[in-house]
Amino acid sequence: MQKTLMRIPYTGPLPAPYIIPRNANTPTGAIAALSKFLTAPPAPALQDHRGCDTRSTVILSGAGISVASGLADYRGTNGTYRQNKTYRPIYYHEFLANHEARKRYWARSFLGWTNLHKAKPNAAHYAIKDLGDIGIVRSVVTQNVDSFHSIAHPDLPTLELHGYLRALICVTCGNDLPREAFQESLTKLNPAWAAFLAEAIASGALDTENPEERRSKGMKTNPDGDADLPGAPYSTFRYPACPHCLANPLISADGTQTNVEVDKEGAWKPTSNAGVLKPAVVMFGESIPGKVKEAAEQAIDGSGRLLVLGTSLATYSAWRLARRAKERGMPIAIVNLGGVRGEEAFFQELAVGQQGEAGVRVEMKTDKLLPGLVEQLRRTGHDASNPVDDQHTNSGVFKDMLS
Ligand SMILES: [Zn+2]
Repeated sequence: MQKTLMRIPYTGPLPAPYIIPRNANTPTGAIAALSKFLTAPPAPALQDHRGCDTRSTVILSGAGISVASGLADYRGTNGTYRQNKTYRPIYYHEFLANHEARKRYWARSFLGWTNLHKAKPNAAHYAIKDLGDIGIVRSVVTQNVDSFHSIAHPDLPTLELHGYLRALICVTCGNDLPREAFQESLTKLNPAWAAFLAEAIASGALDTENPEERRSKGMKTNPDGDADLPGAPYSTFRYPACPHCLANPLISADGTQTNVEVDKEGAWKPTSNAGVLKPAVVMFGESIPGKVKEAAEQAIDGSGRLLVLGTSLATYSAWRLARRAKERGMPIAIVNLGGVRGEEAFFQELAVGQQGEAGVRVEMKTDKLLPGLVEQLRRTGHDASNPVDDQHTNSGVFKDMLS
């Protein structure tokens, strides 16, 4: 039987990393080590693995890679868990069960969306596009819900392990709705909140990419695109019902008619028993869909190396992918500020004197490091003009997800 995977936050402290190889503590040393890592001959353990492109790399990314886009991460210096000690994400079961919890969630999300919607991919995302063009990176698995990977490199397959904020899904009928249209509905249903948001925009709190400045202007956001507004009267917030369920109420599995009631302006009423919209993210406490879990495993199994970027692997669903890579004998490189969950196990048994070909651990910002790495690879002849064998094409990656 397949075990389900639940998204659970892990907030425990993590030990500081050992830099591998030792000279990878400068940008030059780090770039040299990562160049060796990405271009080394395939790991011997993988030679017999059928259907695996042993020369290719799969990237596993997290919130750290989006910090340079102005989004907070969880554990960094300006991370949500450090800056806001009372921060606790909403859990899936609360969202489903509790109208009041949903009001609070959508009020905060309403304010945070403008920020997220204006934010753009950064140099790290575009360097990953280049690594795809060069033929080195085959696919990306991300824990991020900001869609920056697919914006920056639409042709390099990206699997969004925890879903995405760009759309909503109805928990009753499963239809989706673009977030932009939903935001317009929220604006219409909540004029006082819309005025507050307009004020926050006017104060410049949303103009800066600097989280410090944003906070000084009264705006707090976390990686789930959620703004923090202590003391706001969440109970006044209204949100719309699923338009499909409202127009055509479904018969539920037990044969009863679902009931969706709205007020005269279209806000969902708690007398309803259906038609609740949720963000298309895997919420905390929610299980990752089986086909997403399998596609992530296929992405690991289809590649010869794993490059971990901007994540402490604190979420079990991400950590187990790295463990899977380790168990397959894939070399692993990690670029992250701060410690990574269980990282010493990923670098056990590295040969003394290896220069990065078997493993790399770097503590640097991805947006500063990756563009230089691309430049170095191009200088040394790893560019798109080189013949790329058939296995490097992306057509087969995540085909299950596209069907
Ligand atoms: Zn619906």
